[in-house]
Amino acid sequence: MNNYVYTLGDALYINLTNRCTNSCWFCIRNKCPGVGGYDLWLDKEPTSQEVIDRIGDPSKYSEIVFCGYGEPMVRLDELITIARVLKEKGARIRINTNGQANLYHGKNIVPMLEGLVDVVSISLNAPTAEKYDELCRSIYGIEAFDAVLEFAGECVKIIPKVVFSVVDVLPSEDIEKCRRIAEETGVELRVRHMMR
Ligand code: SF4
Repeated sequence: MNNYVYTLGDALYINLTNRCTNSCWFCIRNKCPGVGGYDLWLDKEPTSQEVIDRIGDPSKYSEIVFCGYGEPMVRLDELITIARVLKEKGARIRINTNGQANLYHGKNIVPMLEGLVDVVSISLNAPTAEKYDELCRSIYGIEAFDAVLEFAGECVKIIPKVVFSVVDVLPSEDIEKCRRIAEETGVELRVRHMMR
């Protein structure tokens, strides 16, 4: 299927890729072909122009969310091209990410998002590097967690709103530790319901 653009409520979601640097045990992709009745497995990744053409006027949506059924920031150039066009048309833009873009691209890419992105929501998912590794199984192994925290710290300098998210199946003491990490980093914590 090629549901690379879809709506949920009054927001519009962009599914740029099914690739991801994590393999979280709780990933919805292991259980469902998509969300909201959409099949989100892509036959091919869309070009930036295809996404721009499909969206048309973004002003009718409350926000545009780069989300993926995968990690959207592995397609950073396309994400930036699309975000620039949509921002010029007045869109509010959010990225949902696993926070490993700087590892993936081998440099600090956060300054490239300045002025284009209103919200970055980063999946924190665990209070320690060991637990993160156990849950999220990043290709970067134990290094991934600290890189996610560093990425969030860079985002705080530039992006108007930065959020850590955790799934609600974590033990409450881990959620509280995540809350403290969020406070120390200067970001909000959102506890999201895990779809089963
Ligand atoms: S980071 Fe997101 S898309 Fe990637 S494996 Fe984890 S839950 Fe799935």
